[in-house]
Parts: sequence; C-alpha cells; structure tokens
Amino acid sequence: MAFNPFEMAQKQFDTVAEQLKLSSSIRALLREPMREFTFSLPIRMDDGSMRVFKGFRVQHNDGRGPCKGGIRFAPGETIDTVRALATWMTWKCAVVDIPLGGGKGGIDCDTHELSMTEQERLCRAWVRALSSEVGPVQDVPAPDMNTKGYHMIWMLDEYEAIHHGKFPGFITGKPVGSGGSLGRTEATGYGVICCLNEACKALSIDIAKSTAAVQGFGNVAYYACERYLKLGGKLICVSCWDNSDKCSYTFKRTSGVDIVELRKITNEHGEIDKAQAKALGYEILPGDEWLAQDVDILIPAALENQINANTVGKIRPGVKIIAEGANGPTTPEADAVIKERGIFVIPDFLCNAGGVTCSYFEQVQCNMNYFWPKDEVLTKLDQKMASAFHGVYEMSVEKKAYMRDAAYMIAIDRVANACVARGWAMK
Ligand code: NAD
Repeated sequence: MAFNPFEMAQKQFDTVAEQLKLSSSIRALLREPMREFTFSLPIRMDDGSMRVFKGFRVQHNDGRGPCKGGIRFAPGETIDTVRALATWMTWKCAVVDIPLGGGKGGIDCDTHELSMTEQERLCRAWVRALSSEVGPVQDVPAPDMNTKGYHMIWMLDEYEAIHHGKFPGFITGKPVGSGGSLGRTEATGYGVICCLNEACKALSIDIAKSTAAVQGFGNVAYYACERYLKLGGKLICVSCWDNSDKCSYTFKRTSGVDIVELRKITNEHGEIDKAQAKALGYEILPGDEWLAQDVDILIPAALENQINANTVGKIRPGVKIIAEGANGPTTPEADAVIKERGIFVIPDFLCNAGGVTCSYFEQVQCNMNYFWPKDEVLTKLDQKMASAFHGVYEMSVEKKAYMRDAAYMIAIDRVANACVARGWAMK
C-alpha cells in the first residue's frame, strides 16, 4: 500500500488525543485541516507551448495566529503530503511557542525540467490563484523543498502588485536586503544541532567525541553538518539525490566528510559529482546506506518516509540519537521499533523548528522595519530552540513518555487551549 503522510499525521494525533483525553469536538477540529485549496496553474512554457501544473495550499489551523508554512516544488506532490505537512506546521509553531498556525503549499513540478523564467511564471501564478487567501495576517508562505529566496521575491512582487502596497510580512525566506532576515538560511540546520547539543548534554554524551551520518546535502543538512562539525563532531557520510541515475547515493569517508570540499563539487540541483568525490577518497554507496552506519547520531535531513518498517532494521546497535531534520522521516511502524530499542529521538516538528522560528523573527523585523544583526538573530534562535527542547525533554521525563509523544502533548495542548478559548471547540 502506498505511504500516505496524512494518515501518518492523523495516527500520531489520534494517539496523543487519547493520552490527553481530548474532547470529541477538539479531535474533530484538529485532525482535519480548516481550509484547503487545490488549483490548476496553466503556464506558458519558454517554447511557446502551454502546460498545466497542480497547485496546493492547506491551512490546517490558525487558532494561535496566521498560518505559516513553506511552498514545495516537488514532482508528484499530493494534497495528502501537503495536508500532513500543514498539520505538522501547526504542532511545530506551537511546540516552539510562536504565535502562528500551520499551513503548507506546493506545486507538482520538477524544477530540473523548468527554466528560471518558467519557475517565475509558476510562482506568480500560484500567488494569483490564492491572492485573497494568503497575506501577512492570514497565511504567510516560505521556502521549502526546491524553493529559494528568489522564488519568495517573485511571489512577494506579485502579491504587492495585486494588493497595491508594500507587504514584506506576506512571505518569509526572502533574500537579505530584500526583507530577509540574516541567519534564515542557516536557521533550520543550526536549530537541529542546537537541539542535538542539548540532547547530548541531557544524555551525558560528549558531542565532540561523537560521530554522525546525515541523509541529504541540501539546505537543512548542510548547515546542520556545519554546526555539528564546529562543535567537534565527526561526520561520516552525507547523501543526495542523483537525477541522471534516478536514485540517491551516500558519500562516505571514514576519516571524516569535508562539507566545504563536497559543496564545491555539488551542482545547482544539489547533485554531488561522483567521480570527483571518488578522487577525494569518498566511497559511493547506495542511497539508504547512511542509515546503516556505525555512528552515535543519525540525522535524516532529506525527505519523509526514510526510516520505515523496511529500513529501520538497518540501524546499528550503537546509534544513540536520531535528530530529525526532515519532515516526517520516521513512520509510526519504525517509531515503535526505535522506542523499543531505547534510541533517543528529537522529533521533526521540534528538531527542525529553527526555520519557522527564524521566519517568525523575519516577520517581526519586517513589521518593525528594523533588522537585527546576525548574532542577535542566532542568539534568539538558540534561546527559543533550547527552551523548546527542554520543555519537551522535561515532559518526557515527567510522563515517562517517548520524546515524540511528549512534544505532541505540549503542542496539541497549546493549540487545543487556543481553539477552546475562541469557542471553536469544547474542552
Ligand atoms: P533541499 O531541497 O535544500 O535539500 C534536499 C536534499 O535531499 C538534497 O540534498 C537532495 O539531493 C536530497 N535528497 C532528495 N531525495 C533524496 C533521497 N531519496 N535520498 C537521499 N537524499 C535525497 O531541501 P531542504 O530545505 O534541505 O529540506 C530537507 C527536509 O527538511 C525536507 O523534509 C523539508 O520539508 C524539511 N525542512 C526544511 C526546512 C527549511 O528551512 N529548508 C525547514 C523545516 C523542515
């Protein structure tokens, strides 16, 4: 049966709703998105032909504030993936205690096949389709998989043209100098390692003596690796998707991965050149080998459904921590095994919340029209992430709960209380 991320998100919610003894009205409200939009985007291609792309936006819950969430350009994107990601955004904003709700959007497209001008037309068309449903006080988009700062600027430009004004708080992840916040590029990866560092302290693991294997070599993975290496950890491998071979590869070097060196041989689609990597002493292994390494820490930072019933058995006995940089990398079936084996998990919606936290800072700075220096952004980010991590960790110790369940308890409780206070559900 095909993996359905929304069913997984609902399953996770149902488990915690039961533990929290939530009322049926709260359950009915929170297990479904409040609003969702599916639309066609007819685009003129550079060769003069027309193509129709499918666009999505899901607003899961805005009880705590405007919806917030990225826009993915993903081949084969489905409404269920977007629903799941919007749901996780609600919990993510709540677990780090920022006054925002959960949303997510996407376009079913493959950026490898699209020129920059075609991507610009897609961005503008997506905004036109939703111009009255999104905005600084309704729903604030951001970059996600395969979308970058320049996509955000095209979207902002289209939104401002439609609404006749300057609305820098409409969208986050903008380039610095065009309303973006310093530190946003690094924020998600750095936030992952902030949580990991706090987890190591809590578990008495010396991060400087630890080893890690990372899946992915994109935005989240790269900056997670950078900060992990700065803290003295040893990185054994990273991985990436290879579009010409239509599969992923793991790049392993037992003496340690040098991310700067690897980045120099990575193309604009994020593919690491295999021949050059080999010449630098890397072994080129199958894509899922990152999970089978003899390391202390695993960091899935690529995509969902990577640690599942079929792959969880690959995890070596020495693994102590899984820090989930990606959204939804672990399925409930794999979770049960990980729980049983006593591996400490920093759940995705806590671990990768650095991105949305910094996006929130970007919005605040845009609204004030006053921008903070990078150190100030990153210090505030660490404070938020460390405080959220400890809130969840303490709950997990107090309730003897798995970290994912503890994070859900905190987040769902906060959202439920906000909805009850508004009269949307009964306690
Ligand atoms: P990205 O597009 O920059 O990078 C994705 C990476 O994954 C690339 O290196 C790609 O080669 C690799 N990849 C794709 N398919 C793969 C496969 N089958 N096996 C191995 N590697 C594969 O994306 P990103 O922004 O780094 O996002 C990564 C994950 O983190 C996604 O789940 C995203 O939803 C999540 N996330 C991103 C942010 C953010 O701020 N960018 C915030 C929160 C969560």
